[in-house]
Amino acid sequence: MKALDELTFDNRFARLGDALSTHVLPEPIGEPRLVVASPAAMALLDLDPSVAETPLFAELFGGHKLWAEAEPRAMVYSGHQFGSYNPQLGDGRGLLLGEVYNEAGEHWDLHLKGAGQTPYSRMGDGRAVLRSSIREFLASEALHALGIPTTRALCVIGSNTPVWREKQERAAMVLRLAASHVRFGHFEYFYYTQRPEQQKALGEHVLAMHFPECLEQPEPYLAMFREVVERNAELIAKWQAYGFCHGVMNTDNMSILGVTFDFGPFAFLDDFDANFICNHSDDQGRYSFSNQVPIGQWNLSALAQALTPFISVDALRETLGLYFPLYQAHYLDLMRRRLGLTTGEEDDQKLVEKLLQLMQNSSVDYSLFFRRLGDETAELAVARLRDDFVDIKGFDAWAELYCARVARDGNNDQAQRRTRMHAINPLYILRNYLAQKAIDAAENGDYAEVRRLHAVLSKPFEEQPGMDSYAERPPEWGKHLEISCSS
Ligand code: AMP
Ligand code: MG
Repeated sequence: MKALDELTFDNRFARLGDALSTHVLPEPIGEPRLVVASPAAMALLDLDPSVAETPLFAELFGGHKLWAEAEPRAMVYSGHQFGSYNPQLGDGRGLLLGEVYNEAGEHWDLHLKGAGQTPYSRMGDGRAVLRSSIREFLASEALHALGIPTTRALCVIGSNTPVWREKQERAAMVLRLAASHVRFGHFEYFYYTQRPEQQKALGEHVLAMHFPECLEQPEPYLAMFREVVERNAELIAKWQAYGFCHGVMNTDNMSILGVTFDFGPFAFLDDFDANFICNHSDDQGRYSFSNQVPIGQWNLSALAQALTPFISVDALRETLGLYFPLYQAHYLDLMRRRLGLTTGEEDDQKLVEKLLQLMQNSSVDYSLFFRRLGDETAELAVARLRDDFVDIKGFDAWAELYCARVARDGNNDQAQRRTRMHAINPLYILRNYLAQKAIDAAENGDYAEVRRLHAVLSKPFEEQPGMDSYAERPPEWGKHLEISCSS
């Protein structure tokens, strides 16, 4: 275990020079204080969890102090936002403080979000509000606990610094950890500004640091693109299987490592709704829940375009063609497991689709349905769950198919079925209204609820005594919260 001043830096991205990022110092926030820290994320840096309580921790992650070895940089990138190309984005309010390597030899980017203005701030103030910082923190750590690849969050530091959004709020900073902060938009930036030298420097860096096995292949860039396609297909399959809606799948928010990245107006589904739009500013529903699947491919083709200097168009097209079948296979595999099945049959896809249609028509709670399905034998569980459906006849027909399918599956020892299903179907989900309650308390200076919610969500599959209220369906007010891009 290390103390805060014992972190070891190795700033590989900073060494690529000023064409890829700009030196900028963090701008401190007033009276920095710990809102919440993640012991699991601290462990990635070998940090003793108790150091989160020290004044130095809030000073470092509130922008007041900096390690001598840190080299804070704002990265430049561009990207497609809601389908249109924006030629100049970049870190407008976040800084890569440096790269730390841990005792296991892993490198982690330390990225401080809300660290003040940079050359890429455009009209923005360079700040992040407490509300959105808490949301990013909770989502990162909750997704990780569900087994969904994501950037991590070390902590949120609050302050008394006022910032203006729709109303006056307080600034905060969130310390994000990722193996890399390179986005699809990085490659797009150097492609569209026609800087092949710098694009090559970026590409070689990403290959060497993050895809070393691709360097062994005859066409390393093609091998890397294939890996990115595979990882995104798997990632989005997990989002869809768990009801996670990202909300702003612009190409500047897509990680080259295929992890969930840049949290804004995200949501986990409460009631199942394939057409759910979690981002109040997304009028057209471009990033609606079910559109995430084709948008994943759209984003990969934007990346493919930017990689045309390295890879033939035919090879790119062929590789892109892998996305849908891979997505389908991962998704079906996860959904089978959510249904408690251990084998595959041809009609399983239809079984899943029929169920989702019924859930959609009856506004059934997506997460709780699967959790309850594993509580008892298939027959007893469907008998209990049928009351949640308006179309009872439709549900009964589905239940008959399901029970027959479960019988054919064979592995139906009830204790085993329950253990197997509860290990994949979470009891606790980061519902918007739970986040909102924690945020309301935090905005009044009470951080206990954020910390409790974080702790509950860090073990989403495990029933936790006294925490029943976190597993309930949302109250009516909690289903219609409007979350915008403002953050
Ligand atoms: P996001 O919607 O958070 O992914 O941000 C899109 C772009 O806007 C990125 O380049 C951000 O750095 C930038 N940005 C967002 N909010 C601010 C802000 N308050 N100040 C400066 N830049 C911002
Ligand atoms: Mg972004």
